[in-house]
Amino acid sequence: MSGPKLTPMMAQYQKMRRSLPDDVLLMYRLGDFYEMFFEDAQNAAPILNVALTRRNSIPMCGVPYHAADAYIAKLVKAGKRVAIAEQTSEPSPGKIVEREIARIISAGSIIEAHLLDDARPNYLAAVYQMGKKWGLACVDHTTGEFTVAEFTERGPLDDELARLTPSELLYSDEQIPAFGALPAAQAYDAFAFLPDPAGQLLKDHFAVQSLHGFGCAEMHAATGAAGAILHYLIHQLRRPCEHLRSLKVREDSHLVLIDAASQANLDLIDSRSGKKHTLLGVLDRTKTPMGARLLRDWILHPLRDLAQLLERQNFIADLLEQPFILSKLRESLQGIRDVERTTARLSQGAGNARDLQALAVSLSHIPELKEDLATLTRSGDLQSPAQPRPEQSSTENPATAHGSLLTDHSSNLNDHTDLTAQLTTALAEEPPATLKDGGLIADGHNPELDELRSATRDGKQWISDLQAQERQRTGIDTLKIKFNNVFGYFIEISTAKLATATLPDDYTRKQTMANAERFITPALKEMEAKVLGSEERAKKLEYELFLELRQQVCEHLDSLQQTAAAIARLDALGSLAETAQTHRHCRPKLEASRAIEIVNGRHPVLEQTLVDEKFVPNDTAFDPEDNLLQILTGPNMAGKSTYIRQVALITLMAQIGAYVPAESATIGLVDRIFCRVGASDDLSRGQSTFMVEMNETALILNHATEHSLVILDEIGRGTATFDGLSIAWAVAEHLHDEIKCRTLFATHYHELTDLSNTRPAVTNYNVAVREWNEEIIFLRKILPGAADKSYGIQVARLAGLPKPIIERAKSILSHLELNSTKPDAKKRGPKAKNTRQNDMPESNAPQLDLFD
Ligand code: ADP
Ligand code: MG
Repeated sequence: MSGPKLTPMMAQYQKMRRSLPDDVLLMYRLGDFYEMFFEDAQNAAPILNVALTRRNSIPMCGVPYHAADAYIAKLVKAGKRVAIAEQTSEPSPGKIVEREIARIISAGSIIEAHLLDDARPNYLAAVYQMGKKWGLACVDHTTGEFTVAEFTERGPLDDELARLTPSELLYSDEQIPAFGALPAAQAYDAFAFLPDPAGQLLKDHFAVQSLHGFGCAEMHAATGAAGAILHYLIHQLRRPCEHLRSLKVREDSHLVLIDAASQANLDLIDSRSGKKHTLLGVLDRTKTPMGARLLRDWILHPLRDLAQLLERQNFIADLLEQPFILSKLRESLQGIRDVERTTARLSQGAGNARDLQALAVSLSHIPELKEDLATLTRSGDLQSPAQPRPEQSSTENPATAHGSLLTDHSSNLNDHTDLTAQLTTALAEEPPATLKDGGLIADGHNPELDELRSATRDGKQWISDLQAQERQRTGIDTLKIKFNNVFGYFIEISTAKLATATLPDDYTRKQTMANAERFITPALKEMEAKVLGSEERAKKLEYELFLELRQQVCEHLDSLQQTAAAIARLDALGSLAETAQTHRHCRPKLEASRAIEIVNGRHPVLEQTLVDEKFVPNDTAFDPEDNLLQILTGPNMAGKSTYIRQVALITLMAQIGAYVPAESATIGLVDRIFCRVGASDDLSRGQSTFMVEMNETALILNHATEHSLVILDEIGRGTATFDGLSIAWAVAEHLHDEIKCRTLFATHYHELTDLSNTRPAVTNYNVAVREWNEEIIFLRKILPGAADKSYGIQVARLAGLPKPIIERAKSILSHLELNSTKPDAKKRGPKAKNTRQNDMPESNAPQLDLFD
């Protein structure tokens, strides 16, 4: 791409370009512009929407340096990595300006607030396979969170990646077949992943002898990945990593596992109809970005650990008992900014005076928070353990659990009074976003700065007084003193006035304009030097003072991170309490059983978003002896899918420690939640939907345990009827006979309801509908017993199919039914609870007339 003769500057450029990976764009500082050349220019120009030009036939494009951030943002959003080359020497004649790559900006490592979503983490992850172990490491560079995990199977790794959705995912360039196709995947030097160099780099970084202290000394696949991330950040992206203070092992033994497909099917954090229609959307009333990110993480990682869940519940209960404190707490939280990301930014040598100010403002609310917590503790002490909470008997509410989160919170909240005071007095009221143009520091903070400022002010005053003096001296009343960047201060007199006046001797002509002449005097220039000099010095001093303040903050890094984490927890719990209060959620009783008992349960999301209808609550009762697999039949649109998801969501909410939308609930803790949707119900996937469905079903059969909750929605629908029915049947049998997990199976395969005749713990349910004048009315009530027909034709009529077609369908149906060998509902099984005659409300009786 290079011509035969390169200018020295282009030679320097080429050398730098060659030191970078091919896909990184190089933005090269040239005076007031960042320029890109050759293919970089051709790639970037259309993304940036700037003109592609040529110089000496080299394609190039550039952006002004002061607007560079916005352009870099565009490139990063378009999935590019951008290297910034800055000038590191002053221009001097005959010598080429030196340049260095200051940093490389990539999607997984951005810290600029305007490029980030406040409410979600931004992960840079790495994966590494060693034999039968899959290692995962993950950094949120915006906060300093650094975690590792190891898996003995590939599936759970992919599931965790689906939860984390990293912006960049590094993998060893020797493991392309295993990982190359993953979203955001990017090959990186295999050497960096090798356990020895990776482990060494980690030990050096954390200044430790071994990784035992982090609990991952033996996790070579995971620490290989972690070392590679650190290598990438330090050596390729050239990022300061001071704020990565420790390595945490992500353990999944205490978590409820939710695979990627189930996560999507339950609309936990994303849905096709927007965030409002997700569980997160309903639960998230957090006031701070830290709280929002934590709550999101909780929803993706529910807990199996009873003690931890009780702690969260107790804290919510305390807040609900004292609504006044709850609202006070939330008010205090309202004033708190993103302490976590701000601190991380500052510790990386980035950030500005506004960040310092945001930090000071945030910290100033900590004493209020501590006070609120103290009030809570005091009243908690009065009530517990002598007086058990109404929601829970004293045996399940161990006295030790109460208040322990509270004490944790208060002891982790550090108020940093000195730092706050220092920042508050030092910073100007409205500091600018720039660092070197002054205006950062308040008057009265630094005597030298005050002096320089008053010199500037006095000088400026002197200059403006001068105008009056000169007018008098020359007798020209339109004479003006002006300033521009080229000449500095000057005296301007209109040509017309000049003709009649005699100028003092000390006036030197500087410039002739169309209607005026410009002059300077020695006195003016002398004062100008003083003004401009002190202004320059003041700006420089302000910058130095800013660096000092930033250094102060960095010295408190650990305790600021701890404080941020405590704020996040308080905010997330406060949000759950607020939601519980607003939506009348109840405290579920948690236990280590295989029962689930919900009275008047509601779907947490649909309940909030229904507009035309009122949500109809329903009961749920699982028990390990005789009600483990529930088969739910009923017409399309009756509410089957809603109901089975409602049970899954209530269980999940209970296991993040939240209250649940029900009148009362007892939840036997689950170890996994599976939610499978039959192919034809699932529009979002590719062509081979049936294959996907079967893959997902296989996953359930291979991984569900007797403690799991399995939700199956129309499984087997993606293939021919008999195939599908047979598969659904066999799956149901296996879940009941072998796995013995709690299962809700919504199906239009009516035949499945026969299972209850032979299986003790299978129970049939249906969603009640009423027919009236050949119309179908959905009652939304779940009742015991099988639905006795599918009502497909009624639903088709609702949908507006032409009348002749409906009539014809009806006659075909009755013909088919006459010739069917299938036993009819009345002959079915001995179990009374499954015959609709016993249990269906009278209102359903007329439906028999339909078959004419
Ligand atoms: P199915 O799976 O039986 O075809 P859905 O569960 O998809 O039916 O429900 C269809 C629609 O019925 C939902 O979109 C919702 O608007 C409404 N619906 C479902 N359950 C309820 C309920 N309990 N209360 C009120 N409306 C409901
Ligand atoms: Mg459905």
